[in-house]
Amino acid sequence: MIVLNNVHKSYVTGNNSLHVLKGIDLEIGAGEFVSIMGSSGSGKSTLLNILGILDDYDQGDYVLNGRTIRNLNETNAAVLRNELIGFVFQSFNLISFKNARENVALPLYYQKVSRRKRNLIAMEYLDRMGLKEWADHLPSELSGGQKQRVAIARALISNPKVILADEPTGALDTTTSFEVMEILKEVNDQGITVIIVTHEHDIAAMTKKIIRLKDGVIEEVIKNGELKMYREKVMAE
Ligand code: ADP
Ligand code: MG
Repeated sequence: MIVLNNVHKSYVTGNNSLHVLKGIDLEIGAGEFVSIMGSSGSGKSTLLNILGILDDYDQGDYVLNGRTIRNLNETNAAVLRNELIGFVFQSFNLISFKNARENVALPLYYQKVSRRKRNLIAMEYLDRMGLKEWADHLPSELSGGQKQRVAIARALISNPKVILADEPTGALDTTTSFEVMEILKEVNDQGITVIIVTHEHDIAAMTKKIIRLKDGVIEEVIKNGELKMYREKVMAE
């Protein structure tokens, strides 16, 4: 599904260049449930933005679903994003003056689906998130966990192959965080590849593979037996 080969990325501001990703090699198969972990500034969001074709990279290769992603113009990038990727953000990114149903339906609006049809489909997704009764409410009337479930419904409505979530539990309390992770696990159980960025050990422990970033390189990949030990350690804390 996702293959990165020696990917480098620097940010240039004025005369300064900051080398953020320093040769990332990574393979994520269809249907995986992966977390990208690392301390603040280690390059997690930069990596996720490249995976989501929200940003480009300087060197190396990125192949997504069999297609090399390089130097795409914004139109082509948008087409691929709409076809393949759903995004979930720490700050939910809901439109404040639209209700839950309208927020969920928004990607279908851009696909020119009729209002009647997109509202019907949005209601199905809200129902799946247990939010049918909240369809007419504005984001400001929802709890953090409800807002994130609306955002997940919006990410799912265009039938993506991959969900990319940047600190999806970063603004939530522990109980709500685990509820949101439970939903992402169910999404993954339906065959969608889920990749989340987090700096919390207990959240990473709920995924099936942990990629540890440090200073722009992959320091460690934790899976299988090691992941079992990691989970036991996290639970003991
Ligand atoms: P993380 O998500 O792991 O906290 P980021 O990928 O957001 O890390 O950032 C990695 C480094 O790159 C940080 O030092 C950050 O300040 C810098 N950075 C991120 N985005 C930009 C940008 N658009 N322009 C310049 N520097 C940036
Ligand atoms: Mg970040």
